[in-house]
Amino acid sequence: IAAGLETLHDLPAQTTDGYRMPLWVNTGLTSDVERSLERGAEGIGLYRTEIPFMTRDFFPSEQEQMHIYRRQLEAFAPRPVTMRTLDIGGDKALPYFPISEENPFLGWRGIRVTLDHPEIFLVQVRAMLRAALGYGNLRIMLPMVTCMHEIEEAIEQIDRAVRELQEEGLDVERPPIGIMVEVPAAVYLTRRFARKVDFISVGSNDLTQYLLAVDRNNPRVADLYAPYHPAVLKVLQFIAQEARKEHKTVSICGEMAADPGGALLLMAMGYDVLSMNSNNLPKVKSAIRGCSLAKANSLLQRVMRMDDAEAIHQYLRTSLKKMG
Ligand code: PEP
Ligand code: MG
Repeated sequence: IAAGLETLHDLPAQTTDGYRMPLWVNTGLTSDVERSLERGAEGIGLYRTEIPFMTRDFFPSEQEQMHIYRRQLEAFAPRPVTMRTLDIGGDKALPYFPISEENPFLGWRGIRVTLDHPEIFLVQVRAMLRAALGYGNLRIMLPMVTCMHEIEEAIEQIDRAVRELQEEGLDVERPPIGIMVEVPAAVYLTRRFARKVDFISVGSNDLTQYLLAVDRNNPRVADLYAPYHPAVLKVLQFIAQEARKEHKTVSICGEMAADPGGALLLMAMGYDVLSMNSNNLPKVKSAIRGCSLAKANSLLQRVMRMDDAEAIHQYLRTSLKKMG
């Protein structure tokens, strides 16, 4: 089977009735890049910039960050590379920037930290913009957005970085800017937020955790962490519809896109891009190539009427098996 999946590399992720589904990857390490390209990734939908920060003893300098980011941008050019601004807090700690809280997932994390520390944010954005010089494939994405003012402040900072670099004589422009929808409040404001930004990307890992009030890392409640919970599916469908009303690209970069059954549902919901761990890309591509969009639509209609997450998951597994 593995050998069969390898030959998929050059084949498009296209359904039997001709619908093209762009498959992108999530990266963090420099080594992820080569593996992703080998597997035929068409872009990076989530580069987790906190990963290089976590493997160091101190904040990397602007120069150092620029070199790290450039490796991703250069290797993927001209394909798009979506760099998420630092997403620490929650379960992601930097040894040299301790955050101690009783409820870290409801605490100081993601954009909340970087807006409180514009010096960290500005340096990071400057490094991204400099790294993208000559490639033009950078997109910037903001994590954990909950309120409109966070988007406005972040865009102001990005514009400031652009201006600074232009004044220093560099030929930079504002790249496309997007937000992650991973907090329930953002779900209901998707349409308004979409007017402010260029693209929307759903972080289904955090969104599932916050919708179901289940810690994504707590083994005691792991059974309750259900990506196919009917409420999660309803929310995912709603976000896609709202983003499309504003004609904005809507992608998903949580683990759900990496599950073949999930990928088919998301395709039917109208997601424009699925971004996943490169390990799962061949499996997802193979599922898409073995299914029609019409069939995915009917799967979606069916599961949207079901009440139980486990039954939905089981139904998807059985349907995929039947498709071969
Ligand atoms: C998510 O929350 O779904 C996501 C993609 O981001 P992370 O897993 O890094 O929190
Ligand atoms: Mg997240």
